[in-house]
Amino acid sequence: MSVYVFGHKNPDSDSIVGAISLSYLKNQLEDEQYIPARQGDISAETEFILKQFGYGDKVPELKTSVAGEKVFIVDSTDRAHFQDDIDEATIVGIADHHKLGDLQTDTPLEAWIRPIGCSNTVIYEMYRSYGVEIPKDIAGMMMLAILSDTVIFRSPTCTKVDTKAVKELSEICGVEDYKKMAMDMFIAKSAVDGASARNLNTRDYKEFEMGGSKVGIGQLEMVDISVLEPREDELLEDMQKMKEAGGLHTILILLTDIIKEGSKLLAISDDPAKIEAAFNIQLENNKAWLEGVLSRKKQVVPFVQPQFK
Ligand code: MG
Ligand code: MG
Ligand code: MG
Repeated sequence: MSVYVFGHKNPDSDSIVGAISLSYLKNQLEDEQYIPARQGDISAETEFILKQFGYGDKVPELKTSVAGEKVFIVDSTDRAHFQDDIDEATIVGIADHHKLGDLQTDTPLEAWIRPIGCSNTVIYEMYRSYGVEIPKDIAGMMMLAILSDTVIFRSPTCTKVDTKAVKELSEICGVEDYKKMAMDMFIAKSAVDGASARNLNTRDYKEFEMGGSKVGIGQLEMVDISVLEPREDELLEDMQKMKEAGGLHTILILLTDIIKEGSKLLAISDDPAKIEAAFNIQLENNKAWLEGVLSRKKQVVPFVQPQFK
C-alpha cells in the first residue's frame, strides 16, 4: 500500500516541497511507496521554486480525499487544515513546526515536531539522522522553502538550525547567492496585478478553531505592501463577505512588508475589542500597523487565541 505525503490546505511552498523531500527520503528507507501530494493549487512562489530546480512538470498530485489511505502529513497538525475525511485515514507520521493541533490517531506513529523555522528544516534533520544524501534539485527546493518560511532569516521563527541547514543545502545545490535567489522568489510572490480581492485574501489563508469560534487569518508577504494601499477597502469588503459566508467570528489579513519588517493588519470581527486587546492597539477604519510582526504562527495566533478562552 502506498503512503500519500502532503501538507495543509491552500498549500504553501513548505507544504509542497515537504511532500517531495519527505517522499524521496522515505523511498530510500522503506519498501512502501511514498507519493508526494497536495490539497490545492500551487502558488506563484511555489511555481518559481519548482521551475528553478527542474520540477516544473513534477507538481505533486491533487489529493482531496484520503479515507482508507495511509498518509504522512507535513507542516500542520490541525484537523481544519486537512481533507474532510482525514479521520478515516491512517496517519503514519508527522513532520511539522507548528503548535500541536487536534488530529488524533488510532495507531502508533512517528512524529518529528520542532519549534524551528520550517518543516523542511525538520526534514533536513531527518535526512541527516538517517544518513541519506539529498539530491541537488531537492536540496535547492528545500533551501528555498526554508528561506520562504523564515522570510530570508528575518522571521522570529528562524533559528540557528534553519540558517545552518540553508548554508549546507546551498552547498549541495551549488547556489552561492541564495539570498538573491530568495529575493527573486519573494518578488515572484509579490505579484498582485490582475488578482481579485478574494484571490489576495485567500492566497495564504488558514482557519482556526478558537474557543468554539472560527477565526480566519490570511497573510500576504510582499516586498512592498504600498502597492496594495489603493485596494485595502476592497479587501475589507471581501473579508466581510468571507466572514458571513463561512460563519466566522473574525477574519484578519496581514499585509506583511518583508523589507519594512512589519505588517498592516486588516480586521473584520464580531468583537474588535478582542483584536485590539490581543495586540494592544487601536484599530482605525479596521486597520492597524503591527511593527515587527512577520510570523502568523509566532506573533499572531498565540496572541489572538487567548482572547477566545
Ligand atoms: Mg505552511
Ligand atoms: Mg512551514
Ligand atoms: Mg508562510
